[in-house]
Amino acid sequence: MPSLASGSGLAPWAAHDDRSRGRVYPEPPAHPRSEFQRDRDRIIHCGAFRRLMYKTQVFVNHEGDMYRTRLTHSLEVSQIGRSVAVALGLNEHLTEAICLAHDLGHTPFGHAGQEALNDCMRDYGGFEHNLQSLRVVDKLEEKYAGFPGLNLCFETREGILKHCSRRNARELGELGERFLNRQQPGLEAQLANLADEIAYNNHDVDDGLRAGMISIEQLCELEMFNSCYREVVAEYPALVERTVIHETVRCMINHVVSDLIENTRKELDRVSPVSIDDVRQHGRSIAGMSDGVGKAHHELKRFLRRTLYSHERVRRMTDKADRIMRSLFSCYMSHPDLLSERFGTDSEGGGEEIRARAVADYIAGMTDRFALGEYQRLIEPGDDR
Ligand code: MG
Repeated sequence: MPSLASGSGLAPWAAHDDRSRGRVYPEPPAHPRSEFQRDRDRIIHCGAFRRLMYKTQVFVNHEGDMYRTRLTHSLEVSQIGRSVAVALGLNEHLTEAICLAHDLGHTPFGHAGQEALNDCMRDYGGFEHNLQSLRVVDKLEEKYAGFPGLNLCFETREGILKHCSRRNARELGELGERFLNRQQPGLEAQLANLADEIAYNNHDVDDGLRAGMISIEQLCELEMFNSCYREVVAEYPALVERTVIHETVRCMINHVVSDLIENTRKELDRVSPVSIDDVRQHGRSIAGMSDGVGKAHHELKRFLRRTLYSHERVRRMTDKADRIMRSLFSCYMSHPDLLSERFGTDSEGGGEEIRARAVADYIAGMTDRFALGEYQRLIEPGDDR
């Protein structure tokens, strides 16, 4: 592996503060913080970040206090991302900022909410939660006197925008270019994406078992879970089940994370990028797991889709979320006066498409409980099924 070089402890392929492509509105340096530390701090202090506490990951907030919310999910993503970043000489603060911000644009009620809103917005340019996360940090957060949004660095915004349709990419200027030129983002962004998947795969196993919606027997059909589970039980035969589960999940995360570090190191050796631009111009992602572990990781993902995410209890929530989102959308479209003042102002004087975008921004920013409250207040008073 090439040396990590530079006094900053960062590898040449990392994002370096002093070589950042900068902010849309130039600002004086962030001393004593680095630019990416400042980005992270702005994300933590923004309202959309606090609202993640009451947004569904898989389980709706009122199902219990022990389940992951979108906020604790984001913290777990960040924890995994930072560990790997440090091991690879990458910029820990940038990785942390991207991980903490990656779900800021997520709707209430998890994927069901996102799908419903996308469908409602079909005639108005659609709704993508990645793009919405970018919209939150670029525009919707109104906190600073000198600029709209959080005015984050290019590299942080690049990492937040994980996917993007070509149509939307064309409207995003230099940030959208990589989707049109089929280029990669920096390694910190590649890593944040993988940390997201590793975090939810594993914490959903934990939450699913806790809820009794998946079983250890089912999970033991998966090679990775089975080998970790056997290892834990053989070493600690007297452990209570809850601790066995915790140790098994811990073992799986360690396994996948170690493989990700090792395999990415090998790939870095092979490609030998000398800058973040080399990483961007490489034909495919440099960060990744080995084929074997990648396969096991995807097998777990497919298993969760088949069992947990389509479990009857989750589906009931999904149906309800769908109804709430659609009802709220059409209610605000017909009565824009019901939007909160600032979204109402956004929608004034424009056509239907502008109003729809203001409605989508408003609904996407809601927490589960606020959306539920609005539904009960505006649409079906007394209906809390
Ligand atoms: Mg996520």
